Amino acid sequence: MNVVKTKNIGFCFGVKRAIKMVLKAAEETGGKVFTIGPIIHNPQMVELLKEKGVIPVDDVYQVRDGTVVFRTHGIKKEEEEYIRSTGLKAIDTTCPFVKRVRKHAKNLEKSGYQVVIVGDRNHPEVKSVLSYLNNDGIVLQEPTTLTAKKVGVVSQTTLDKDTFVEIVKELIAGVEELRIYNTICESTQIRQNEAIELSGEVDMMLVVGGKNSSNCTKLYKVVHKVQPKTHHIETVEDLRPEWFENVARVGLTGGASTPDLIIDIVEGRVKNF
Ligand code: SF4
Repeated sequence: MNVVKTKNIGFCFGVKRAIKMVLKAAEETGGKVFTIGPIIHNPQMVELLKEKGVIPVDDVYQVRDGTVVFRTHGIKKEEEEYIRSTGLKAIDTTCPFVKRVRKHAKNLEKSGYQVVIVGDRNHPEVKSVLSYLNNDGIVLQEPTTLTAKKVGVVSQTTLDKDTFVEIVKELIAGVEELRIYNTICESTQIRQNEAIELSGEVDMMLVVGGKNSSNCTKLYKVVHKVQPKTHHIETVEDLRPEWFENVARVGLTGGASTPDLIIDIVEGRVKNF
């Protein structure tokens, strides 16, 4: 089987940076490093990090000692305040692109705009940004009409451009003044563009990455629109031989939180089909 990979595949800048920081902390402290929720949305990588002493916890208020890590998607304002108040050692791995969303949202709020975050209201990044606005923001996942004087818009970093444009277009009708920050991160945008381009040149596409990863599921969604023969897999175990009938060329892409090793294993197996 002929396999073609997108150029940008595997960990993005933000994930690489975060993994490096937690591994350094685990090494220096001999373990006892707690992340609030999984540091990235890739179950295999999270398991690997557990072996090194990096443990995800759901409830930060239960952490009594050790080092607490603010994960790449950011944490809630009240969680940060609590950690700072305990004097626990804290490491902030929040991706700078996520912080940019927060910065623009806060500035818009200060300037009197009703802040709209376009994204998934259940995603930790959106919950984090919202908390820094004291939960006084509106989260939109689909085109919705709002009637307001001044509206300021930011996007979740891993949003797809088409959804962002559709939602912004709908807002124009009911708003007197609209200020928009396209805060989709460059890495997300480049990956989506490359994957869309490749999907037109192959018989089938494979998107490798966590099923709980926002950027992977969005990547799958945009690629599937162009190439109906697209599958989202987490590991090589998810591959099904019947997918490869009448297929000569397979395109391979991965989300920002997908380890290179997993991609390499998938590539090797597919080549042998
Ligand atoms: S996908 Fe973008 S925003 Fe998310 S961690 Fe990577 S670089 Fe940062």
